[in-house]
Amino acid sequence: MKSGDYLVIGGGLVGLAIAYGLARRGLAVTVLDEGDVAHRAARGNFGNIWIQGKGAGVPAYAEVTRRSALEWPAFAREIEEVSGVELRYRQEGAICVCFSEAELKQRMAMLAAAEADSTIPAEPREVSASELRKMYPMIGPTMAGGTLSPLDGTVDPLRLLRALLVAFRAASGTYVSGARVGTIARDGDGFAATTATGTYGAARVLLAAGLGNAMLAPQLGMRAPLRPVRGQIIVTEKLKPFMPLSFHFIRQTEDGGVICGDSSEEAGFDEGVTRPILARTADRLTTVFPFMKDVRLVRAWGALRVMSPDGLPIVQASQEAPGAFAVSVHSGVTLSPFHAAVVAASLADEGRLPPHLTQSFSPDRFDVQIPRNS
Ligand SMILES: Cc1cc2nc3c(=O)[nH]c(=O)nc-3n(C[C@H](O)[C@H](O)[C@H](O)COP(=O)(O)OP(=O)(O)OC[C@H]3O[C@@H](n4cnc5c(N)ncnc54)[C@H](O)[C@@H]3O)c2cc1C
Repeated sequence: MKSGDYLVIGGGLVGLAIAYGLARRGLAVTVLDEGDVAHRAARGNFGNIWIQGKGAGVPAYAEVTRRSALEWPAFAREIEEVSGVELRYRQEGAICVCFSEAELKQRMAMLAAAEADSTIPAEPREVSASELRKMYPMIGPTMAGGTLSPLDGTVDPLRLLRALLVAFRAASGTYVSGARVGTIARDGDGFAATTATGTYGAARVLLAAGLGNAMLAPQLGMRAPLRPVRGQIIVTEKLKPFMPLSFHFIRQTEDGGVICGDSSEEAGFDEGVTRPILARTADRLTTVFPFMKDVRLVRAWGALRVMSPDGLPIVQASQEAPGAFAVSVHSGVTLSPFHAAVVAASLADEGRLPPHLTQSFSPDRFDVQIPRNS
């Protein structure tokens, strides 16, 4: 059995970002990852760094998201430098494009409320239909305008995952692939995680296994009531650059392909694609950009979001097994800098998760008492 400071269960975006932050601070960290057979949101996501509208009505979440967005430029520089992997990161603003006047009005009201609730300004603004047309001459005639947030951007999510792994290893972290943890338990002063190929130990453990946290957390007296929510994404053939800024569900990669998708379905653990959702996605794409009707689709995939009952993160420390922690989020791309910096610093320096996170995002919030009619 090997030992160290931290075991991180799960080598997706959350696990690797925090593991990198811990290793960079000189801790001995082992990441155990199930590997290619697992459901991995980190490998199928859209790649948005997105704060527009996030945390409306939940100031704690708005703060975390905005803080992470502000950390992105320095984080991207650092990760690219340490890993040598180019992230294809851009953060020059992005637009949520609106299909109707009513939608545009509603979004502006929602963004204004989120802005009023947050101490970190995001300064979103309305983009009128005519401004949108100037920026995107090929935009569809029915599009009503959009909302622009200068803090939003995009990154190539696969490159980000790869870069985090390389950076983690460069900081002397140990990464074990094909290591599905079946059981995790207290072991003397620390913890032992058992996989099919061996047992790994460390003084502390962080569960960052995405949907796998639902099964692992109860073993350490925590809970992660997560469910998969499927998203389906399509990719077109390569085109000349035509999007000055990306849209919330349409972006053009550096290679020229256009990625599109904003579907959300309850489909259990099925990661497949379906004709109706792909057709609806293509229909939305061609409404926004009618010229796309003549463009070939080259690829499509489905991926499962790591979703809590209210869509917000679940961040917890075990009372029953001190030294055990769990983090489950749905915006792992956007929050990578926050995880690598703020969360890792707190775990490394204080041996705990940031208290403002465990207070705001404890799973205890799901224990809502329903008043009985007497
Ligand atoms: C369609 C879609 C679009 C998205 N778009 C965006 C976006 O634009 N911007 C954004 O910020 N976020 C986006 N997300 C969310 C983002 O991808 C996730 O928040 C992030 O990937 C979650 O990271 P994770 O590490 O928690 O989980 P995962 O990426 O799922 O990784 C979990 C890891 O844990 C491992 N694992 C599981 N169980 C075990 C076990 N028992 N033992 C060992 N290892 C285990 C798996 O192998 C896996 O590698 C999107 C998600 C989807 C599905």
